[in-house]
Parts: sequence; C-alpha cells; structure tokens
Amino acid sequence: MHDEISGGLPPEENEASTDRWLRVSYSSMNVFDSCRRKFEFQKLYPQRQSDHDNYAADVGTAIHHGYQTFLVTGSRDKGVWAFLKDFPYEGEFMQEKDDRSCEAALSTLEAMFDSTDMSEWELATIRRPNTTEEIAAGLSGGIEVPAVEVPFELRFRGLTLPNGMGVAFTGFLDALMFNALTGEYRTLDIKTHRRYARDATAKYKFDSQQTPYGIIVEHLQGHPIEGFEVLYLDCFVDVAEPRVELYAFEKDKQDIQEWLTRRVLQIQELQRYMEMDFFPRTDSGCMSWNKPCYFLDVCESRHRDSIEAWLLAGEEPYVRTYEQPWVVAELDLFPESE
Ligand code: SF4
Repeated sequence: MHDEISGGLPPEENEASTDRWLRVSYSSMNVFDSCRRKFEFQKLYPQRQSDHDNYAADVGTAIHHGYQTFLVTGSRDKGVWAFLKDFPYEGEFMQEKDDRSCEAALSTLEAMFDSTDMSEWELATIRRPNTTEEIAAGLSGGIEVPAVEVPFELRFRGLTLPNGMGVAFTGFLDALMFNALTGEYRTLDIKTHRRYARDATAKYKFDSQQTPYGIIVEHLQGHPIEGFEVLYLDCFVDVAEPRVELYAFEKDKQDIQEWLTRRVLQIQELQRYMEMDFFPRTDSGCMSWNKPCYFLDVCESRHRDSIEAWLLAGEEPYVRTYEQPWVVAELDLFPESE
C-alpha cells in the first residue's frame, strides 16, 4: 500500500506544496473520532492565534527537550539546562494548582534520567534538510543529525477532498534508536501526565501513535521492515514522587497496514461530510477534562459566515507555518487501481 518513500525535500518544493494539503495529526484525528464537528471547527475554518491556556503542554515540551538533549549528549547537566531554557515560567504564576511547577517538572526529568538503561541502543541519525540560514551560507544536501524530534509528513495519494486538497499526516517522532548488535530499531514517545492509574498497559497497547513511525524506519533502511519496537516513557509529573515507567510493544507490517486502512476510512468519511456540508455533533456530551467544549456556544449555528465571525472575533486569520519535514513519504493508497 505504501511504496515511495523519500527523504526531506528541498525547502522550495515543500513550501510550494503547503497549501495543497489538509494537514492532520494523531491528535486531530482523535478529535475527529471524538467529535466530527469539533474537527470541522479546528481544521476547516480559519483560526485566530490561539489564546487557550497551553501551560500543561508547554511543561511537557520543556521536559521533552530536556530528556531528548540528555539522549543526544549523555549529559544530565545539558538536559537540565535545555529544560530550564524551555520552561514556561510566565504561565506558572497563572496556575491555580502547582502540580506541574518547575520543581515538579525538574524532579520528574531527574527521575527520567535514572529510569532506563538505553546503553545497548544508540540514537539513529537522519539527514535533515538545510535551514534557510544554512542555504544562505552556501550549504546544501542536508545535514546528518541525531534522530530526535523528527518532523515527518505522510502524504496520502489516491484520495482528494471536495475542495481539491489532499490529506497529509504530520507529526514529530520523539526519538529513534538503533541496536548495532541486532540491527533492530525502536521508537520512543515521551508522555507526561498527572494520571493516577498505576498500570498504563491498556492505554498504550493498541495506541496507534507510533505505528506510522515504522514508515520512517523503512525510509532509513531503504526497504520494507518486518517489525520494530515502540516505547512509551510514561512520566507522572510530581515534585515529591514522580513516577517513570517504560512500556514496550512490538509492531509489525500488519500493524502498519491496519493503520493505513484506518486512515483511508477516516478520509473517506471526511470526504462525505465535506460533500454534504454537514459535520455531525458528538452524541456523547460536550465536556472534556471537566471543562465544557470551547465551541459550545458557536456549535448551535450551522451558518458558515456567523461561525467564521465567532472564531475570528475580529482578528485576521492566523496562518500556521509548518516545520519543514525531515521525512516525506508518498503513500499510494490504491496502487492496484492504476
Ligand atoms: S460543543 Fe459538543 S458537539 Fe459541538 S464541537 Fe464541542 S464537543 Fe462537538
């Protein structure tokens, strides 16, 4: 089902194609599954710059960067420094609770350093495209870097939306590791949270977030793979008792195939809603994380202009710029029909 996998494209080629793709991700397709209407609001209307409170996510990002720096350099000090540089100090003072304070996040990061022995594994390397500054300095051909925080884009060929756009699946791979003795690959995803459940096996066992990373592994190897391992570094953020658990699962070709089949079904459903100009509301209530849905008021309307006016609130539409992907894979969804 997927056959043509390429490395990072030259910047000009990527930039020229940015408006032809509806970019979706693991989280936006989860939104699609939970409420088609919310997906419509978030992905198919112009947006203003987000003024939502992203503090918890920003703390998670700082922890990610701290741990990824530790993986790359092997230095705890450098990991802590990367974390401290990224930590959202301004947001910390606005929080009602201090369960994700700087101290709690740092304590969790230290527990992550101590949690796992990855000594048999080395970080894979990947060629990223040159930045604008590097091109201006006369560099070309990309640069080999450790495979952490790898932006990727999987472009689905064979399904076009009624507005003429294709659908591309984008995301970031937290880390890709390689075992030089066995030739095996493993991918890592870092999860920071405040869930109290002790055993998260059920949360991750069939979670599909890392399944498409197998396509990136294929890109690096240059041929289809039989399987790879996915790791979830599950981190309970707490100042006194941070908990870090590593969950490992095997993925194989069948998992990648099922992931692609699921994306085809979702895109076909999306096509139908767009053709009908009707995205249904969820049947299961409009609260999440104990808060009412942000779109609760505007959701009453089916009038496109009023919805757009509500969403923009008098501001200019925000044009999101996407990170240039280091891996671009063209996935032919229906090769037999050609
Ligand atoms: S208010 Fe309810 S139906 Fe409307 S977008 Fe939010 S979750 Fe969906």
